[in-house]
Amino acid sequence: MTILEIKDLHKTYGAKTQVLRGINFQIEQGEFVCIIGLSGAGKSTLLRCVNRLIEASSGAVLVPRALSGVSADGAKVDVLKLNAEELRLLRRKVGMVFQQFNIVKRLSVIENVLSGGLGYQPGLRSVLRIFSRDEKRRALTNLERVGLLDHAYKRADQLSGGEQQRVAIARTLMQQPAIILADEPVASLDPRLSRVVLDILKRVCREDGITALVSLHALELTREYADRIIGLKQGQIFFDGRPRDLTDAIVDSVYHGRDQ
Ligand code: ADP
Repeated sequence: MTILEIKDLHKTYGAKTQVLRGINFQIEQGEFVCIIGLSGAGKSTLLRCVNRLIEASSGAVLVPRALSGVSADGAKVDVLKLNAEELRLLRRKVGMVFQQFNIVKRLSVIENVLSGGLGYQPGLRSVLRIFSRDEKRRALTNLERVGLLDHAYKRADQLSGGEQQRVAIARTLMQQPAIILADEPVASLDPRLSRVVLDILKRVCREDGITALVSLHALELTREYADRIIGLKQGQIFFDGRPRDLTDAIVDSVYHGRDQ
């Protein structure tokens, strides 16, 4: 099943900073797709256009209608056209992981994880941060899945960077997302910790059938983890295929400015 289809997506900041210039691709459910490209290529903008943290200038972002709360009938909706309530429902199904983890340092680890489920809570309980026993059980299960059960009641800022990113992954899992968008999730970590985090991210996505769209700048890691690589250059796709088809010549032309 196609879970995400991007059609002729354009984004221009201000009057003339054209960042995305006609992006087209579609992703099947469960794929682990890595997006590569030089800094400034538009990776972050592309990911943020999918859940409308950034508003695209034109084009379409199609997802199954079930993702925006309406019962599954096979039809698609354009995320760019959803109203505020539909967008809120969609964002429950689209988790996001950030380079800087975005966890609340003064809260405990489990409180951070529980906050990931807040999109599902009725208003007042959400404001008062009252969580049911079932939610707490799910939070602990998700912490166990990222290998941090023993840290549940520590303050989040006592954890290392790699551990904080694992908390962020557990928090995202509370949403039971269909898609995870991860924007340079390991850019702040050394190669060893990067692999620990990517191993976990890939495993939980596989276990839950989650589709992942992950921007990475380390090519080595991309080749190791991606089922499929989408390469961006100046806001356009220069490569879309399997890791083994990303030849050194293609990489050279993009990363070192040499033509094939
Ligand atoms: P990447 O994630 O590949 O590094 P980005 O999507 O962050 O690329 O940025 C692409 C280009 O868009 C860069 O040239 C950046 O300076 C520009 N850009 C990003 N955000 C804004 C903004 N809010 N206003 C103007 N230009 C922006």
